Amino acid sequence: MDDNSFPCNVSVRPSPGKGKGLFASGMLAAGDILLFIPRPLITVLDIPRLDDTCANCFERSSEQLGLYVKACVGCNKIKYCGKKCQSQSWKRVHKYECKIFKRDDIPPLPHAVRAALQLAMHMENHVLSAVEKENVAQMATFRTSKSDLYDVQIVLSAVRDIAARCGTPRLDDRQAEIYVGQILRNSLALTADTLETLGIAIDPMVCSANHSCDPNATVVFNGASILLRALKPIVKDAEVCISYVDTSRPYSIRQETLFESYAFKCQCEKCILGPTQKEDNFIQPATRLAERWTTIPGLSTLATNSPLHSAYYVGDSKDKILLGQAQGFLFEKLRLAQSEHDRKTAIRILTEIMETCSRSGVWPVYRQPYPDARHGLAWNLQQVGDLPSALGHMITMYLYINPVLYPQETHPIRVVQIWHLMRMCSKLYAERDSPWVSTMHAQGFDFVVIIWRLLKEMDMLLEKSHGRFTSLWQGVQALMLSMQEEIIGTSEDNLLLIEQDPHDCWGMFKSLAAP
Ligand SMILES: [Zn+2]
Ligand SMILES: [Zn+2]
Ligand SMILES: [Zn+2]
Repeated sequence: MDDNSFPCNVSVRPSPGKGKGLFASGMLAAGDILLFIPRPLITVLDIPRLDDTCANCFERSSEQLGLYVKACVGCNKIKYCGKKCQSQSWKRVHKYECKIFKRDDIPPLPHAVRAALQLAMHMENHVLSAVEKENVAQMATFRTSKSDLYDVQIVLSAVRDIAARCGTPRLDDRQAEIYVGQILRNSLALTADTLETLGIAIDPMVCSANHSCDPNATVVFNGASILLRALKPIVKDAEVCISYVDTSRPYSIRQETLFESYAFKCQCEKCILGPTQKEDNFIQPATRLAERWTTIPGLSTLATNSPLHSAYYVGDSKDKILLGQAQGFLFEKLRLAQSEHDRKTAIRILTEIMETCSRSGVWPVYRQPYPDARHGLAWNLQQVGDLPSALGHMITMYLYINPVLYPQETHPIRVVQIWHLMRMCSKLYAERDSPWVSTMHAQGFDFVVIIWRLLKEMDMLLEKSHGRFTSLWQGVQALMLSMQEEIIGTSEDNLLLIEQDPHDCWGMFKSLAAP
């Protein structure tokens, strides 16, 4: 896509029962761009990313690419990849925040605090035009529900404290509360093109999009720019919705999260059908579970009379209460694994979750937290160097899980998973001398066939998932070119042979899927 064209195929209009919403101004196909914003109003990095990522273009330090970030000499906290990024950032916002960050009595500030301060600085220092200011003023602010009050208060007191100590921005208490509310209510995850979270972003236009658990659009970042893309065909005047939560979670968990974080009861097209969709499926019949689960660790200790958290509610029968408790137990273990720093321990917990799901006899492979446990397991196995086992789980996700959870093949999550799968195959290809890879080779298996096929698949999907000229697209192009040159050689026959796959390497690859 041409960065100068700034497509905008949406308009902000009242949405019945939801305040404002985004509406399509024409017919759109899946993958079409609804909105392109070169730079959202506010973007801030997470604290750990401040050290290794440019705070202006969000490129990460990379020895391979010869890219190094250097700290601003004023505050010594915010880093940039070069003079150009530094001066752009200085003019936009850093001239205001540098003097705050450089004070020794101010600790590293969480992203929401930095974002609220930026918003205040933009508004109070007359950086924005009258129209931009009006758009910000129109942004929804937080309507607190009990559980989030605590977070709001922490961020708010930090913002007030800094404003009082530094005198910039000058804020009264009520105004500080509005800014903090707007940040917490409207922030999107700022991500790399491989969907790794880098920080948060806030933009009045994108933030007008309401939520649906079956969204027709999704947000993708390319460096600092935001693209809103259609996930499905959208007719003129239809409301454009994104998802504020993980759509792969079952109904009751989505409802609970949305209520706790955004204080509304979701009545999207999917939610009005209740817990009847694929995310809510158990393998039938889920009967006599107490008897069947007596030997399964964790599940055998569930008791129908113990309290059940409403997020895990499945139904009122004895078996359904046990199913709800099983969910609670498994999600709790997943949380434990995700906060575990020791990889071996994380692998043990994740393996237990998967075994419990599998032995329960009622958990489909695509029902959470089974897929998240598998995803986490593949990642951790890769970190400890067990690449063949990691590959098996990634193939299962690619073939059997992601197509169910994300039916649109251009869904960015699916495309990024193909990228990771392809990279895993490349790593194994480079380890030709390892016993596992040599055994595979001896059976006629060739990773080149798989890598080439996955790259071609990405090449086809990326235009509609991320867009041309994104760094992911460029990465795929560069790899395809180097494969053509180095591995396939100049002979057209070689390429033909790889594409025809006479030894059925693709079939062998599919058979490597982990149970
Ligand atoms: Zn930069
Ligand atoms: Zn600075
Ligand atoms: Zn919903």
